Amino acid sequence: MRLYLKKGKEESLNRYHPWIFSGAIHHYDSKPEEGDVVDVFTSEGQYICKGHFQIGSIMIRVLSFGQETIDTHFYAQRLRSALDVRRCLHLADNPNNNTYRLVHGEGDNLPGLVIDIYGHTAVMQAHSVGMHKDRMMIAEAISSVVPGIENIFYKSETTLPFKAELGQENGYLLGDGNEDIALENGLRFHVDWLKGQKTGFFVDQRENRHLLEQFSQGRKVLNMFCYTGGFSFYAMRGKAQLVHSVDSSSKAIELTKANVELNFPSDSRHTAYAEDAFRFLDNMPVDAEGHCQYDLIILDPPAFAKHKDALRNALKGYIRLNQKAFEKIQPGGILFTFSCSQAVNKDQFRSAVFTAACQAHRRVRILHQLHQPADHPINIYHPEGEYLKGLVLYVE
Ligand code: SAH
Repeated sequence: MRLYLKKGKEESLNRYHPWIFSGAIHHYDSKPEEGDVVDVFTSEGQYICKGHFQIGSIMIRVLSFGQETIDTHFYAQRLRSALDVRRCLHLADNPNNNTYRLVHGEGDNLPGLVIDIYGHTAVMQAHSVGMHKDRMMIAEAISSVVPGIENIFYKSETTLPFKAELGQENGYLLGDGNEDIALENGLRFHVDWLKGQKTGFFVDQRENRHLLEQFSQGRKVLNMFCYTGGFSFYAMRGKAQLVHSVDSSSKAIELTKANVELNFPSDSRHTAYAEDAFRFLDNMPVDAEGHCQYDLIILDPPAFAKHKDALRNALKGYIRLNQKAFEKIQPGGILFTFSCSQAVNKDQFRSAVFTAACQAHRRVRILHQLHQPADHPINIYHPEGEYLKGLVLYVE
């Protein structure tokens, strides 16, 4: 199947950008179905790339700028290259760590595909119809390339375009067993890919949790939006004096408690609260100077802006949240603050945090500027792949 671009619309493809928008398309030689692989030609009839077709504003997600056939062998080659990167990062084949992202969409030249590895299980998510259609080839490639994989769980119920009516369900493509204990930097945690958010765990905070551990000794830690408690058990290993974890979901609080218990059984330093974060910050007790007991606070909220239109409100949300923490944190306190909204760039986020600090009238230094870890790589030709940003701040 062939697709012809309008005149001059190959420019971004010459720079290897992996998306073709609907406005760039002139005509097809025959009408493709969603998920088909389409060969793309310039208006002059020159072959330029091939990719998955989908109805929507991004119409083609480029799989190859070469002439490869898209089959199990193709996916195996891409997975081998992705695994090489994780090996060079010492994330795969590491006795202290069996949790990592193997495929991060465009960052690994596989637009629309995410694969996270938890020990013997690969959890695979399709974000495009093409990857959904190719899921069996991809599963076969995972089995042949990644050593020790016993289960492949396919989790795309909520990530695929609803309009494509694929009737998709979550389920095993290989093996079974619905829970496992995985290992991150020597700490253990339960992963529940069946019911958990994303693929079951937020793999993208590994390095930032590790940094937090180094700030934790003797501190009173408040972990807001804790989900499965990742930051909390790192703070405990880092010898925090006390750790309070907050999440509005009671399921998340159960998971946090179970994970803390797994690593630090019957440790009285930890308490978990199922409560709204904004309400918790408003209601926490303060001393005569207006300061709360905490001198290390983590703010890792869900994406406030999923789309560009929601940007203004998202920035207001970040200002409001951070201001509450700045107002009450102990002098000499450390704030780890994050945004995982792709629609908010790092300058916009930093400026929201700047506004929050200013409105709280605190003297604040930036100690670290954080980002997504190396197993969530950014394709140099696809800057849109940058999404996680964070700041470590010293609040005087
Ligand atoms: N920090 C976590 C990931 C956070 S994901 C980690 O390291 O794994 C965002 C979490 O925010 C989710 O668990 C969600 O339940 C929670 N959440 C969403 N809105 C909230 C609110 N208003 N108050 C408290 N928690 C909230």
